[in-house]
Amino acid sequence: MISDDCLFCRIARGDVPVPFVAENALAVAFRDIHPQAPVHVLVVPRTHVTSVLEADPAHLNAVMQLAIEVARAEGVAESGFRLVLNTSADAGQSVLHLHAHVLGGRAMHWPPG
Ligand code: 5GP
Ligand code: ZN
Repeated sequence: MISDDCLFCRIARGDVPVPFVAENALAVAFRDIHPQAPVHVLVVPRTHVTSVLEADPAHLNAVMQLAIEVARAEGVAESGFRLVLNTSADAGQSVLHLHAHVLGGRAMHWPPG
């Protein structure tokens, strides 16, 4: 399913002029509008899935594969990067379309806030 009301559905199908940094059959990757690190890319499935709680294995795999590809292409695979999938309210998920954040290019803190 693809939703007209969902921002990431609209980006994924090309309705919003956001360049893709990478894509595969089931997922696309684009830069976060408010980057929290020198590398901050979002990876989203092309079809609407609210979160990992609803995602099927094929879409989870496509998102993970693309996130790893982005980390390599952005040059942070060796230095280190973080994959973040904020899920539901306590995690602060603000866009209800599954997305993996690929964050890198600086040292990360632990535990996260
Ligand atoms: P969440 O808080 O749901 O894990 O992450 C949502 C992310 O989407 C945020 O980091 C936010 O900056 C990003 N975002 C929200 N609206 C847009 C947009 O219109 N374009 C892009 N590229 N990123 C967006
Ligand atoms: Zn959507």
